[in-house]
Amino acid sequence: MALKYKRILLKLSGESLAGDIGHGIDFDTVLKICEPVKKCVDMGAEVAIVVGGGNFWRGRSSGKMDRTRADHMGMLATVINALGVADGLEQLGLDVRVQTAIAMQEVAEPYIRNRAVRHLEKGRVVVFGCGTGNPFFSTDTGAALRAAEIEADVILKATMVDGVYDSDPKSNPDAVKFDKLTYSDVLNKNLGVMDMTAASFCRDRNIPFLVFSIEDPENIVRAVTGEKVGTLVE
Ligand code: UDP
Repeated sequence: MALKYKRILLKLSGESLAGDIGHGIDFDTVLKICEPVKKCVDMGAEVAIVVGGGNFWRGRSSGKMDRTRADHMGMLATVINALGVADGLEQLGLDVRVQTAIAMQEVAEPYIRNRAVRHLEKGRVVVFGCGTGNPFFSTDTGAALRAAEIEADVILKATMVDGVYDSDPKSNPDAVKFDKLTYSDVLNKNLGVMDMTAASFCRDRNIPFLVFSIEDPENIVRAVTGEKVGTLVE
C-alpha cells in the first residue's frame, strides 16, 4: 500500500483512550489504537502524536477554579495520556520518545523541535505532551503548532464522530456529512470540528486536517494511505 502522507501528526483526543470506561485510560483501547500506528510506521510513515487530556480533566470545565491553574492540570493530564500511548507503542515493538512542552526531564524529554524531527527521521514515534505548554490553548492548537514546526503533511484528528456534519448527527438523523471543507467554511460556519485558534492557524499555514472516527482504529491506516474516510479540511 502506498502512502498518501509521509509525515503525519496524529491528534488523539483524551476521550479516545477511555474506551467503554468513559474516563481515564483503558489500556486495551490504547493498544487497539497503537496497532494501526505501527502499521503506518512499518509502511514508512513518520508519525508524531499529540494527545489530549479530556478523559481526565479539561481546564475550561473546571468551574470556579482559576483558569490558568486548571489548564496546568489539563496539560498534566495530557502527559499521563502521552505516557500511556508511548507504553502501548513500545509494547508493539516501536521506538518511542515522549517530549513535553513543560519540562519534566525525569519523565520525558523536553520539547526540542530539531530533536523531534531527528527521531522521526530515524523511524521513532514522537508523542508530544502538554499541548502548546500554555494555558488558554487546546491540544488541537498544540497539534497545529507541532505540525507546522515539524512540517507534517497532514493533521489526522481521530475523534468519536466519523467526520464533520452540518448539524449534530446524534440529535438529527438527517444530518449531512461533508467529505471536504475549506478552513473558511469551518471558521465562518463555526462548525466545531476544531477550535477557532487551531483552524485559523492551519489555514494560515496551509496544513490539511482530516477528521475521522477512531471507533475503527484501522481508519488511521486508511487516512494515511488516502482511502476515503472522514472529512478533509484544507
Ligand atoms: N491545555 C492547555 N494548553 C494547551 C493544551 C491543553 O492548557 O496548549 C489544557 C486545557 O486545560 C485542556 C486540557 O489541557 O482543557 C486538555 O486538552 P484538550 O481539552 O485539548 O483535550 P482533548 O479534548 O483533546 O481530550
